[in-house]
Amino acid sequence: MSQPAFNCLRCSQCCHGEGGISFEQGEISAAAALLGLSAREFVDRYCQPRQGLYFIKTNQDGDCALLGPKGCLIHQAKPRICRRWPFFDALLRDAGAFEEAKLYCPGLSPEASYEDFLRQYRAERGGEDQQP
Ligand code: SF4
Ligand code: SF4
Repeated sequence: MSQPAFNCLRCSQCCHGEGGISFEQGEISAAAALLGLSAREFVDRYCQPRQGLYFIKTNQDGDCALLGPKGCLIHQAKPRICRRWPFFDALLRDAGAFEEAKLYCPGLSPEASYEDFLRQYRAERGGEDQQP
């Protein structure tokens, strides 16, 4: 593999869109601490608790409330769902879903094959479980 199948360009395109990004319970305090807030203040300001998860609010333009002018405000403690992309179960199991994701995420190389993608996943993240 000469170049990686995925190399994040930090375009923040994946930080737009309504309501699908959530923290799990144990992830809140680290994110809050990065912003100098208590967990309660952080949840009140940025989250909508629902079904045991903390969904991040979006602003009127549909951007994640934690997206700042220079990117993610909590980059070092962003939720698992953000850290895992694009190595989601759905893409790892379905070559068609991987091809579709290329249209959405410019960090996925158009030339990369599904096998390249799986190879990178195994090399970089092979020990992780696969959800989401
Ligand atoms: S938490 Fe950060 S990385 Fe995740 S969607 Fe929001 S701004 Fe983007
Ligand atoms: S859309 Fe892809 S390239 Fe852009 S920030 Fe998200 S993961 Fe990175």
